Amino acid sequence: MKKRPSLIIDHEKIRSNMKTIVGWCTDAGIDVAGVIKGTGGLASVAIDYEACGAKWIASSRLEQLARAKAAGVKLPMMMIRVPMLSELEEMVTICDYSLQSEFTTLKAADEAAIRNGKIHNVILMADLGDLREGFFDPEELVDVAKYTEETLTGLHLAGIGTNLGCYGSVKPTADKMQQLAEYAEAVEQAIGRPLEIVSGGATSSLMPVFDKEMPGKINMLRIGALPFCGALEDLRRCYGRTEADVLYDDAFTLEAEVIEVRTKPTHPIGELGVNAFGKTPKYRDRGNRRRALLAIGGADFGDYGDILPQLEGSFVLGCSGDHTILDIEDCEEMIKVGDVIRFKLHYSAMLNLSSSENVTKYESGEIGCLL
Ligand SMILES: *Cc1c(COP(=O)(O)O)cnc(C)c1O
Repeated sequence: MKKRPSLIIDHEKIRSNMKTIVGWCTDAGIDVAGVIKGTGGLASVAIDYEACGAKWIASSRLEQLARAKAAGVKLPMMMIRVPMLSELEEMVTICDYSLQSEFTTLKAADEAAIRNGKIHNVILMADLGDLREGFFDPEELVDVAKYTEETLTGLHLAGIGTNLGCYGSVKPTADKMQQLAEYAEAVEQAIGRPLEIVSGGATSSLMPVFDKEMPGKINMLRIGALPFCGALEDLRRCYGRTEADVLYDDAFTLEAEVIEVRTKPTHPIGELGVNAFGKTPKYRDRGNRRRALLAIGGADFGDYGDILPQLEGSFVLGCSGDHTILDIEDCEEMIKVGDVIRFKLHYSAMLNLSSSENVTKYESGEIGCLL
């Protein structure tokens, strides 16, 4: 019997999705870095990505990249969270590429690379207004690029990049991409040679690709959420983009077990204070309704709005840390204790579930073979 709750990972669907995405990017002259952090860093997904034509495996966590490497993935590994000084020694032995935004860190990475007999490739990040990582002043970016090129012998300046839509919700518009292309040209002018990489962002930067507005200079995207979530990715939910509807939206699904079935009132009874999360939600009185209690909770998936029950007529009423309440009053199917309810997932739920030790992962389909 499967251990519950379970996260079901369908490799055929992941590969089908990634192949489609790589196809879109290739047509636009863009190489794909396959970001595995959303899966808790499954090496099997890195193997899939390698088979699908990704050119790098990327993650925000070194241990995930180390696992992919140990599993035999031959692609260069890329660290996409600006590194800590304390992990540089490890970074240069595991990764071939990293994103960088601090002069101090670059100098320390250079020393670490030299100590370990490596030439480490760096991509300098430009902050175009999303206000997370990156050089904000383009002159500083150019100066540091020039210094890296001329002085830091353990590092190779592979290119520049940016990140949008993370902290500041800034959209990767054609204007922003053009600005990045101009920064790249300024750096190239200063160092007197072309850069290999101009990295235009994440899944959301596919929008200018769909619109055929991506400047030719942008030649890398770092793709995380889309191959896992398809139409359930924010491209659809937040931007109304339908291009990704051709992808599977159930490459990752959750299975949770029913532990109680009862008809109860819908409005709590007694003096109301706060719920399990210290919040004061409003409760709508819809009379007595049949509900199923599930052995999974917010501690596992985060926000219950990000899990979508695949049981006709049901909806999630709410959750606490370890329980989820599913309204099943309008379901035709007779639900009983021990039944399993399946959910599709938005990215943040998938991300949380992938790293919950209460959730067991089951992988289906062949790994890494070509379609
Ligand atoms: C997570 C991450 C990505 C991938 O983002 P998605 O929206 O999941 O495609 C790309 N770049 C950086 C720096 C990231 O941290």
